[in-house]
Amino acid sequence: MCSKLVVLSSIGLSERMLADWFSAVPQTSRKCGRKIASLKMTLSGSCLCGGIQYEITGPLTDVYHCHCSMCRKLHAAAFRTCAKVQASDWRTIKGEELLKTYESSPGEFKVFCSTCGSSIHTRFTEKPEVYALPLGTLDTDPGVRPGRHVFVGNKAPWYEIADDLLQFTENG
Ligand SMILES: [Zn+2]
Ligand SMILES: [Zn+2]
Repeated sequence: MCSKLVVLSSIGLSERMLADWFSAVPQTSRKCGRKIASLKMTLSGSCLCGGIQYEITGPLTDVYHCHCSMCRKLHAAAFRTCAKVQASDWRTIKGEELLKTYESSPGEFKVFCSTCGSSIHTRFTEKPEVYALPLGTLDTDPGVRPGRHVFVGNKAPWYEIADDLLQFTENG
C-alpha cells in the first residue's frame, strides 16, 4: 500500500471519497432538467429538540471511536464517535442563542444545546481553527467512517468491541 493510501485509510477516507468530495460539479437532473448548483458537498445536522441546526461545507477528517471516561459521560454512551472539522466550514443555521459551553478540561469547551442537552462539538482555545465533531447529531451521511478505537483502556466493561479496527490503549 502506498503511503498516500495509508494516510487516507488511517483517517477513514478512501481515494474515491476524496475524489467525489473535491470534484462535485453542478449536475443536470434528467427529471426536471434544472441545474443542481451544489459545488460542494454540504452536511447538515441538528440537536434532539431541533432548536439547533448546522451545516458543514468541508471534509470531516480523523474519524475515531473514543472510549475515554469523559466521552462516555458526555454522551451517556459506550463511546463517542468523533471527527475533526475546520471551524471555517461550520455554520450554525439556527439556534445560536441555545449553544452553551462547558469547560471539561482547561482550554477545552464542550458545546451543547441548553434545551435538550445534545452534544454539538468541542472547541479548543489552543486550536480555534478546528472543532471536534461527534457524528451522532448529523442528519446526512458524512461518507467517512471511523478508522480506530482510542482510550480502549477506559472502555466500558459492558461493551465488547466487535470490529477489526485498530485499538489503542490511550490516544492513538
Ligand atoms: Zn436541542
Ligand atoms: Zn474521549
